[in-house]
Amino acid sequence: MTAKRLDGKALAQTRRATLADRVQRLRTQGITPRLGVILPTADEAAGAYFRAKQRIAEKVGVEIASATLESPTTTELVSQIMAWTKDPEISGMMVEAPLPEAIDVQVMRDALPASKDVDGAGSESLGRLLAGTPAFVPATAAAALALARTEVDLVGKRAVVIGRSLVVGRPLALLLLAAHATVTVCHSRTTDLAAITRNAEVLFAAVGRAGFVTEEMVAPGATVIDIGTNYVNDKLVGDVDADAVGTIAGALSPVPGGVGPLTTTLLLEQVVSAAEHAAGTAIET
Ligand code: NAP
Repeated sequence: MTAKRLDGKALAQTRRATLADRVQRLRTQGITPRLGVILPTADEAAGAYFRAKQRIAEKVGVEIASATLESPTTTELVSQIMAWTKDPEISGMMVEAPLPEAIDVQVMRDALPASKDVDGAGSESLGRLLAGTPAFVPATAAAALALARTEVDLVGKRAVVIGRSLVVGRPLALLLLAAHATVTVCHSRTTDLAAITRNAEVLFAAVGRAGFVTEEMVAPGATVIDIGTNYVNDKLVGDVDADAVGTIAGALSPVPGGVGPLTTTLLLEQVVSAAEHAAGTAIET
């Protein structure tokens, strides 16, 4: 491995120190930033994501409230969103993935209010991101961008995103455009993918397939950000064949230890921003 390792865990730790100070300032005013998490399934993965958030939230002083809904209807899920929308004790909220099939995702997205939609998943948040007047943005996309920025000035760079989901690929492409990169988005119908990715100065992989990005797909010296989370024989791996790509890329974010740990910290930063805005004490960060 010759590529520089982009350490998301270390960056998350640094940002958490600043975040803890902001939480402390709010608490001295009697305000407790609180993230409401709706768990719409007993899925083990959702439970694991939730516990990981709890651990990190505790470190910075953000409280977590949870609402577990067993196999909810869309109406029940939206009722919970409405209740927390009106609840001044909840600074921000999110619905933990994966969602049960019975949920009408569009109805759920439409119900999420931009002021409390701290994972940027709602229709209003996504529309504002498209319009260039973002409220809160999807935390994973923001984390991928933040990690890339530690290595490269994105202005004018050729950035390629593999994946176009509303959760990761698409919002990331919009954030990159806002950062003045020249952006190409690839997906399962893209032809000659490797020819496109080899042209990237910064390459983002958000596919969900272990080892998908190989050495032949990467330009020498490129910065590669691996967003994928896949389990192979119970081991967490990304979308990038790290051993091979690490010999040619200039910098590479690892999995684990890259985008993942940073994502939760950026989510909590948005919770604290929401609490600051509600209290009228928003500060520039
Ligand atoms: P998704 O909804 O399944 O989207 C996958 C994307 O990959 C789709 O746009 C799909 O194209 C594209 N794709 C699939 N096969 C392809 C191929 N052969 N060539 C090019 N593109 C292809 O997944 P997601 O929710 O965006 O998540 C992507 C990855 O990020 C997953 O591993 C997920 O676990 C991970 N993730 C990580 C975090 C974190 O915090 N680190 C958070 C969220 C997600 P089509 O649109 O054409 O189908």
